[in-house]
Amino acid sequence: MADKTKKVPENVSGPYYVDTECTACGLCTDDAPENFEMAESGDNAYVKKQPAGDDEKTSCESARESCPADAIGSDG
Ligand code: SF4
Repeated sequence: MADKTKKVPENVSGPYYVDTECTACGLCTDDAPENFEMAESGDNAYVKKQPAGDDEKTSCESARESCPADAIGSDG
């Protein structure tokens, strides 16, 4: 389970976040490109925009459930 005390600094504030367990696999940035982006360092993804509307919420939830590092939280 993602840990909201370990958020990566690039996240915008709000419920969804990426934590420091991210391995930069790129799955979330493929699944929900409106909401997730890779950091300039390439070391991790982050939430660039909180989901708006049902489509983005579904994509973000799918990314959260599929993240192999369990690094996406929705309780931030
Ligand atoms: S799916 Fe998880 S491990 Fe992969 S880039 Fe996104 S947050 Fe990081």
